[in-house]
Amino acid sequence: IKNIAVLTSGGDSPGMNAAIRAVIRAGIYHGANMFGVRRGYDGLVNGEIISMDAKSVANIIQRGGTILKTARSEEFKSVEGRKKAYDNIKKLGINGLVVIGGDGTFTGASKFIEEFDIPIVGIPGTIDNDLAGTDFTIGYDTAINTVVDAVDKIRDTAESHDRLFVVEVMGRDSGLIALRSGISTGAEAVLIPELTVDYQAIMKRLDQTRKNKSSRIIIVAEGDNEGGLVVAEKIKESFPHYDVRVSILGHIQRGGKPSCMDRVLASRLGVAAVEGLLEGRRGEMAGLICGQIQFTPFGKAIKHIDKINDNLTRIVEILSH
Ligand code: ATP
Repeated sequence: IKNIAVLTSGGDSPGMNAAIRAVIRAGIYHGANMFGVRRGYDGLVNGEIISMDAKSVANIIQRGGTILKTARSEEFKSVEGRKKAYDNIKKLGINGLVVIGGDGTFTGASKFIEEFDIPIVGIPGTIDNDLAGTDFTIGYDTAINTVVDAVDKIRDTAESHDRLFVVEVMGRDSGLIALRSGISTGAEAVLIPELTVDYQAIMKRLDQTRKNKSSRIIIVAEGDNEGGLVVAEKIKESFPHYDVRVSILGHIQRGGKPSCMDRVLASRLGVAAVEGLLEGRRGEMAGLICGQIQFTPFGKAIKHIDKINDNLTRIVEILSH
């Protein structure tokens, strides 16, 4: 493999830039010519492919977002779109591709590999941490730290007014952002899509622990059946005397400069992805499991295995009394 291209796709996440930098520099280190594709698969389909060198990734390791930009591409979902993409990379002699993204990105990459002769290795870049084959995805650590910072601030005002706050966090259909941020902000309860909500138990706990608390935080994952607004209504119904407020954190969770954890993870996985490609890997995602680099086939990485840890849900239960 002599010519390698990299793209970012799907939702952006902090640390994608650090991953792009690592891919470009690792490729150059190993003697490859490097390319960047703008706007994810859309850029492949439309031929927005630029040559990149070590300098083009200077001063980006600390920046959130992605300098290559990202997109959701409808055209790439069709065979015709993917044929256009293949013709574009063929024209430039690109014979290796690194895709940074989430499950949709890897689903698209799997199809591309099945139909055309192009080796692809993936890097997990999503704040949701909803991929198998890696303990953490790039962006997750930064996102949960953003949530923790925001909830700490919310707690100050909740405490001053004796209020109960329902805070809705991102994560699509995964409760991993909610669970960790809930533990680290001392939340009363964490509502996640992976577990059915026992409202009676939550209400009972809120009532029993009333004398121990001056403020209360309930974290709700956006993918939970009901969402923050409905949960707040239910609490108000049971406790009309509670002063209940809702805060939906939204897109601040996707931005900001990446944490040290995310920068190191992105750097390690960027190097691993390029070296994996050069060793002949294709159709696999580079991940980090218990500190070791491991490669997982796309088909397995995108399976939403249950990453919810029972021990963590127990911690919420025990510490909220
Ligand atoms: P995040 O988890 O952060 O949302 P993602 O990678 O899952 O990231 P998606 O928007 O689901 O984000 O997917 C990114 C792109 O991958 C899509 O815009 C599309 O171009 C491509 N893609 C997704 N699913 C398919 C599919 N079934 N076939 C072909 N391409 C696909």
